[in-house]
Amino acid sequence: MALYAMTGGATGIGAELRQQLTARGDQVISVDIKEGDVIADLSTAEGRAAAVAGVTELAPDGLDGFIACAGLPPIARPLSLIAQVNYFAVVATVEGLKDLVAKRRGSVLIVSSNSAPMMSADDPFVTACLAGDEAAACAAVEERDGHVAYAGSKRAIVAWMRRNVVAYAKAGVRMNAVAPGITQTPLAESVFEDEELGQSMRDFQASVPWGGMAKPAHIANVMRFMLSEEADFVCGSVFFVDGGSDAMMRNDQF
Ligand code: NAD
Repeated sequence: MALYAMTGGATGIGAELRQQLTARGDQVISVDIKEGDVIADLSTAEGRAAAVAGVTELAPDGLDGFIACAGLPPIARPLSLIAQVNYFAVVATVEGLKDLVAKRRGSVLIVSSNSAPMMSADDPFVTACLAGDEAAACAAVEERDGHVAYAGSKRAIVAWMRRNVVAYAKAGVRMNAVAPGITQTPLAESVFEDEELGQSMRDFQASVPWGGMAKPAHIANVMRFMLSEEADFVCGSVFFVDGGSDAMMRNDQF
């Protein structure tokens, strides 16, 4: 029986993964703003500290894995909230729980998005995130739009993961990311209903090569594998689960 901790386990992809893991007998410590074992608002430094402290108290002997799944959609406002939850909270919780995961030579899995490659690594918002300057990143993103805030935060978190893979591996932590396409969750529903972004989301969905939209189980199935012993040599990977959209958009890059 494995012991995992995760953020964003209350709804959507996180809730599905939590159910899959507990159904097979694993234990999951769920951290969320809505409901869970540890209630914390990850947009704030206090909330992130409470999340790390709460998980540490519940898992003194270490974790087999930590899944950073909590995230906000491009329609969230203010835009700085997206940077805080999708990037800075992920870095803070992963770093805060690294030693607990290393105790069991476990794995960290970050939930990015297939929108991440739509942003350049040189974008000022992305570079401010990667510089670890939360105030500068929040100020920079307030002058942009929801797409930049969302895709930029997801781009930055993958770059952060890749830059830290060697140090984490040497410390005994296998770190990876999953990049879902549009998935039927409350987050996606809120974007479909948005006046500004709804139509472009519907157009994007219509272009998915494999057709349709992912169900949370499509993403959770892959995440469960990436966390498992069977994926023991998977390290530093970004696994696109998006019905072929990323391959369609940038077929020569991988
Ligand atoms: P969701 O809205 O169902 O779940 C997000 C979870 O994060 C919720 O449980 C919510 O309570 C939690 N959360 C939000 N703000 C928080 C905060 N400040 N503090 C603590 N918890 C907070 O959405 P989902 O679609 O299941 O999203 C899960 C992850 O997948 C997110 O990181 C999202 O960006 C990513 N993703 C989703 C899609 C999609 O189309 N649904 C596509 C690509 C990536």
